[in-house]
Formats: sequence, structure tokens, C-alpha cells
Amino acid sequence: MVGPGCDGLSILWYQRLVKFGALRVQSKAQPTLLGRPWGMLGPMECLSSGGGSTCDDDEARGKESTSWSSLPLADLHRHLDGSLRPETVVELASARGLDVPSDLPFVAGMGLEAALARFEFTLSLLQEPESVRRVASEICEDAVDDHVTTLEIRFAPQLHRGAVPEEIVDAALDGIGSRAGLLLCGLYGEPPTVLEHLVSIAQSRPGVVGIDLAGGPAPGHSFGLSDYGPAFRRAETLGLGRTVHAAEGRGPGEIAVAIEELRAQRIGHGTTLLNDPAVLDLVLERGTVLEACPTSNYQVGVIETVASHPIARWVQLGVAVCVNTDNTLLSRVTVSEELSRVASIPQMTTSAVRSVIQTGHSAAFRRR
Ligand SMILES: [Zn+2]
Repeated sequence: MVGPGCDGLSILWYQRLVKFGALRVQSKAQPTLLGRPWGMLGPMECLSSGGGSTCDDDEARGKESTSWSSLPLADLHRHLDGSLRPETVVELASARGLDVPSDLPFVAGMGLEAALARFEFTLSLLQEPESVRRVASEICEDAVDDHVTTLEIRFAPQLHRGAVPEEIVDAALDGIGSRAGLLLCGLYGEPPTVLEHLVSIAQSRPGVVGIDLAGGPAPGHSFGLSDYGPAFRRAETLGLGRTVHAAEGRGPGEIAVAIEELRAQRIGHGTTLLNDPAVLDLVLERGTVLEACPTSNYQVGVIETVASHPIARWVQLGVAVCVNTDNTLLSRVTVSEELSRVASIPQMTTSAVRSVIQTGHSAAFRRR
């Protein structure tokens, strides 16, 4: 699934990143390679061998993008611990005497388990409130540079052990200011009491607009999706938004459980939705929003190419869909790049691209 040179390019990119980032940590200028900002580098080339777009599509992509590239964009699914600036990774690692792994970014077809393991390093840099505050603020700045006007940032404060979760959440909110909504993530397999505590933390903090269940189920887990129902239903009563990572290559039954038992209004990924007409009907009936992250899905290996992502079919069927980055660092993608890739999917019309952008704005959680 990865063409010749893709892995090589990734490694080269990261070696250069570390080299230049280490030299330029005090500079606001971003590290560059081949004269382009880091955020523009790599994915297009890598995806050309297995993704939905090819470099030959540049002209067509340009035509598509001109119709929507001036629009304000939205990103509702961006993980704080996967969206650090490369130079911030270098600086925080250096301050801790750590070497940056050369294989930190996602690579195509790596699998969800391997992808989740990549967060261990970034999390090691984000244990203290100050680093959380800094990265939250930088994510907001980066979003502005990408024309994003509607942004939600999510993270699991219980994984940042340099302070109690309340202090970690307050640090994130301080870094964000009023520039984005914050979502708190429970994790598949955790005791439901963890998520229940996150809901309590959110209750007194209006900047927290919703909750999420992130990661994925594993054979050794003692708790299943339904076990998080009480915490999600309490969140509903408090006016918090609810989203769930579900059907990320796994069966669509997770989507039904998330909607019916966890009161999910949005679903993260949901790539297998069309495998069950009854679940599709449920999504349409409830107006559930699908948070599509095609580049991440391709890298994790739950879709074979970006072009094979079902987003165009979803839109045709009337499913509400938005396009998101998931992790700007680890997936090496921006919202505008992700939209370019989605626009290059043959069945994705210009009006469909516009509709997914609009859904990104309208589906943002607003605290009641
Ligand atoms: Zn995610």
C-alpha cells in the first residue's frame, strides 16, 4: 500500500525536521523541506501510490480547490497529543533529554494498535500543565493559519500525570482561550468511573463542550462500549456534546450502540457504516454526524486508499459528514490538504465538498 520512496521520504522528512527543528526552536519560522512548509510535505507524495489522488491530479485538484479554498474551514476531530508542531516536539524532547523517534509519524497500513502506540512519545512530552497549555495554544494558532474558524480539540487529561486532571484541563482551556471547544476523552477499556469523573470536571467548565470515547476495543478489556452509557447519558443531561470513536474498520454495530446507548450525536470514523443498512437508517433518522478522517483511516489501514473512503457515497445518501485531520503531526495533514484529497475522489462533487465544510461548522458542539 505504500509506494517505493514513500517510507524513504517520511524518514528523510523527519531527519530533516529534527535537524532543522533543533536549530530553529526559537524561531517562529517553520522547518521546511524542498522549500515548502512542513505541513504541506509528504502526504500528497505518499498518497500518490496508494491514496485517492495522484500527482497527475494536480491540475484537477487545483480546479476543485478554487471553488472552496477561500471558505472558512472547520476541524471537529483533532487530538491535542497528535497535533503538536514539529519544532515543539523537538524543543520539548530536548528539554527532557529525549531523542525524537525517527518513525514518529503514521505510515500507511500500520494498523490501529501501532498508530495508538505512537502517542506514547508525544504524551511523554505533555505530562505537565505548561506543555499542555502551550500545545493547545499553538494548535489554535495553526488552525487560523489553515483558515479554520471552527475548531474542537480533544484529549484525555487522565494520561497527563504531571498534575491532577482538573489542573490539566484548566491548562488546556487556558491555552485555548475562546478560540476552540475542548472535548474530554475517555478511553476504551478504562473503568467507566474515569469517564464519569471527566463529565464532572466538564460540568463546571463551560469551555469543555463535549466528551468522547477514544482508542479502540481490545481483547483484554474488562469493559465494553455499553458500560460507558451511564456517563454519556449524564453528559447529555448536563448539555455536553457526545461523540464516540466507533467502527474504525470494525463492525458498524458499534455505531448503533454509540447512538442508542451512549446518545452519541457524532461518530468518529465510522468507516463501515454502509455494511449494515439498519445502522445507516439509524444514522439518517437521528441526523448523526460522521467525522471523516480519510488520511488517518488510510494510514491506520482501515481503508485501502483515500479514494475508497465512502464519504462521497455517504453524502449522496444524505448522511451528515464533516472532514477532519485527526492528528496534524502524526498524520502530517492540514484541513485544507485533507479537503483537497477528498475533493479529488471522483464521485465527490464540488457541492459535496462545500456541504461537508458547512457540516463541520454546523455540527460543532455548543454547550447548553
Ligand atoms: Zn480520533
